[in-house]
Amino acid sequence: MVYDSFGSLVFHAGQAIFEETNTKMYRIQNEEEVHCLECGEPVYGRSDKKFCSDNCRNRWHGHLRYAREKIQAREMQILARNYSILESMLCLTGGKCPFSTLEEMGFKKEYVTRVIKKGKHLEYRCFDFAYNMGAGKLFNLHRLD
Ligand SMILES: [Zn+2]
Repeated sequence: MVYDSFGSLVFHAGQAIFEETNTKMYRIQNEEEVHCLECGEPVYGRSDKKFCSDNCRNRWHGHLRYAREKIQAREMQILARNYSILESMLCLTGGKCPFSTLEEMGFKKEYVTRVIKKGKHLEYRCFDFAYNMGAGKLFNLHRLD
């Protein structure tokens, strides 16, 4: 198992899996052998076993939980940033702004808390802010009562 610098899981695919072992040596695993998802050691016993021990299973789920929490925290940070940008945009522009300006400020338009279909248009939400997007700009930005 390999983690990137954010602690996210990096999965490998292919016929052979290169895996960094504890001794920093590289080896090629035989696809037919079952290896522990946590430590990479061979797994014996039932064919659907994924871990060599309870300890490895617990560690694996701990890493998974940690990675999920990291991702959620990062997404909340992005939404919080979008929120304060929308807040200042509403004051400065009265609810209309080109994406280029928003992106310069760090706004990430693919992060929203809800998307609602209203007639032919989609309304995007960032907590209590609602807005539409199209033709290179964000418009009709308003606060929900
Ligand atoms: Zn193991």
